[in-house]
Amino acid sequence: MRYSGLRVLAEGLRGNKGWGPAWRDPEPKASYDIVIIGGGGHGLSTAYYLAKQHGLTNIAVLEKGYLGGGNVGRNTTIVRANYGLPGNSEFYSHSLKLWEGLEQDLNYNVMHSQRGIINLFHSDGARDAAARRGNAMINQGDDAILLDRNGVRDLLPYLDFDNIRFPIYGGLYHPRGGTARHDAVAWGYARGADSRGVDLIQNCEVTGIDIENGQVTGVQTSRGPIRAKKVAMVVAGRSGQVAALAGMRLPIESHVLQAFVTEGLKPVLDNVITFGAGHFYISQSDKGGLVFGGDLDLYASYAARGNLPTAEHVVEAAITLMPMVGKARMLRSWGGIMDMSPDGSPIIDKTHIDGLYLNCGWCYGGFKAVPGSGFAYAHLIAQDRPHESAARYRLDRFRTGAGLMDEEATGSQHNLH
Ligand SMILES: Cc1cc2nc3c(=O)[nH]c(=O)nc-3n(C[C@H](O)[C@H](O)[C@H](O)COP(=O)(O)OP(=O)(O)OC[C@H]3O[C@@H](n4cnc5c(N)ncnc54)[C@H](O)[C@@H]3O)c2cc1C
Repeated sequence: MRYSGLRVLAEGLRGNKGWGPAWRDPEPKASYDIVIIGGGGHGLSTAYYLAKQHGLTNIAVLEKGYLGGGNVGRNTTIVRANYGLPGNSEFYSHSLKLWEGLEQDLNYNVMHSQRGIINLFHSDGARDAAARRGNAMINQGDDAILLDRNGVRDLLPYLDFDNIRFPIYGGLYHPRGGTARHDAVAWGYARGADSRGVDLIQNCEVTGIDIENGQVTGVQTSRGPIRAKKVAMVVAGRSGQVAALAGMRLPIESHVLQAFVTEGLKPVLDNVITFGAGHFYISQSDKGGLVFGGDLDLYASYAARGNLPTAEHVVEAAITLMPMVGKARMLRSWGGIMDMSPDGSPIIDKTHIDGLYLNCGWCYGGFKAVPGSGFAYAHLIAQDRPHESAARYRLDRFRTGAGLMDEEATGSQHNLH
């Protein structure tokens, strides 16, 4: 079923009785060519591009809960291509281009809104770093504008510019950055993959990975064994646990990241803003809630909820930057489990086991990567060689030390990225 304005109108006139389910609910088959473990954004987009770009459809996506119940439905929805380092720069640039055609491609409204992102800076040194990053973005073919203090004031007059501790010096403006509706992205890819013949199997936890003579042969699941020629792991915060099923120990730590939303307000915030003197970012959802977040909770955990000291820290940053936030009532907060890599950059690679692939290490920035990651992972699985946009996302960089991409320059400490 194609979605269109005309269809919405016609269904409205007919009492909305003609809509069918957006995807099937199939029983798992005994075997597939490819099994993808994890029905988050990355798993679903991988299945979609395997079918669309490579014509492979004998595929199952196995999800232990429900589609979109993981980080893809828990994030703060920011989409951007403002990375500075070779490796990340070309990957996120490619991903943003996929975002720009995504709704037409999927025939699904993911509410991608290029409302612009402004990263504020609060010192001369930070201005230099922003200029360097902006130049890297422009060299990559993306957009960046260095704003001075007055330039920021024109765009964001409600900020506290004269806070004695962190006066705003300017900002790096990325007009093509913005937001998208997170769970619609999962649903759009799910529908697209399903309509091409991929089986999306929910409530199906992978409990074992079968390996014979160094070759993967299938998986054990809560719904029985499934044989497969290729198995692709893409389970975000659970990466360490799932890789352990294949006897692998990953350079990944799982940490909690919280998000917060206020009651619905009239439009006050047109863009996405990040505070450069602390870890804080904010935007306004289409429902009116101010959506914001900050630091990790700073200890390793598999709990998808956070603690009050971090909530307090984030709210302090909010009020420092934007005192008016203090008048809004907080509606909800929640947490997600982040797959933190030592250099803060991801892994999309083959493993030492034939037919077993790995995609993880997205830290708290993997939502914007959903199209690019699925595209590159599908290429790797289908052709057994990396896609050029993700060629540097090798697993062995953490063993050899060569090719690390420490975008934040915080060193090899998972909790600081
Ligand atoms: C609070 C918060 C804010 C964030 N903000 C942003 C942001 O603004 N911008 C941005 O780019 N990124 C952001 N992120 C990061 C982004 O959400 C993640 O990097 C990304 O969603 C991870 O990939 P995924 O969608 O595939 O993960 P998930 O949706 O978590 O998918 C993994 C799936 O694997 C399943 N699974 C796990 N184990 C098994 C198993 N054994 N068998 C079967 N299935 C299994 C899980 O149930 C889950 O559904 C944020 C994350 C959080 C938590």
